[in-house]
Amino acid sequence: SPLFVIENLHAGIEGQEILRGVNLTINRGEIHALMGPNGSGKSTLAYAVAGHPNYEVYEGRVLFKGENVLEMGPDERAQLGMFLAFQYPTAIPGVTMANFLRLAVNSVRQARGNGEGKPLTPREFRRLLREKMELLRIDESFASRYLNEGFSGGEKKRAEILQMAMLEPEFAILDETDSGLDIDALRTVSEGVNSIFNPNMAMLLITHYQRLLNYIKPHFVHVMLDGRIVESGGPELAEALEERGYDWLKEESEAVG
Ligand code: ADP
Ligand code: MG
Ligand code: MG
Repeated sequence: SPLFVIENLHAGIEGQEILRGVNLTINRGEIHALMGPNGSGKSTLAYAVAGHPNYEVYEGRVLFKGENVLEMGPDERAQLGMFLAFQYPTAIPGVTMANFLRLAVNSVRQARGNGEGKPLTPREFRRLLREKMELLRIDESFASRYLNEGFSGGEKKRAEILQMAMLEPEFAILDETDSGLDIDALRTVSEGVNSIFNPNMAMLLITHYQRLLNYIKPHFVHVMLDGRIVESGGPELAEALEERGYDWLKEESEAVG
């Protein structure tokens, strides 16, 4: 059965419907890109799936490994193997990257029964952290920095990707991972994502711009307009959007009604 399924999702904020019936199926081994103009509802989709308390679900189901995650708290979703990049906290005073990651990794390991659910010893944790930081080519000093304090945009994104590498999720949603990155940071972050990806997991990349998809190749591309997915295709769809913008899809979707 598919790893992740969204069925007829209607969701919004304060009684205002933003998502108006979203359907999406993602299998293991697949990278999907969700594109669309600003305000079309892409982040709302990510927040609704993550269980952000400000977002309300009016109708529909979100199944991960066959379980309806809408009935779970955000922590439970993470423990089941979902990773949502923007869940990354803004800044926790006095908590280093390493301490934050150790808590996060052990929480997920215990819930998922990895290594019989035992927390990693400090030594095991340090080894895992070093391995992942090498993989992502992150400097060792990063681990002793305080979480997000004085991080540049690029460092925040790198911290998110490091968190993803440490948690080894089965499904990851990355919302605008490319925003605010210069070309070198974009390349580094993309290489990190590519090195983490494996055929047992799946990813949903949310991006307004096509440029991220030059570095991370999606298998499928979807376009959201006004809270609905109006077009799906292969990587060529992203190229068409780069050339033609979103207006032609708006006209088509209006003509269909
Ligand atoms: P995207 O990520 O595609 O740019 P969003 O999901 O952020 O789109 O926004 C979809 C719609 O929801 C927009 O019309 C936006 O104005 C509205 N919206 C987003 N966040 C809020 C909020 N916190 N309160 C009220 N409306 C919001
Ligand atoms: Mg509907
Ligand atoms: Mg957004």
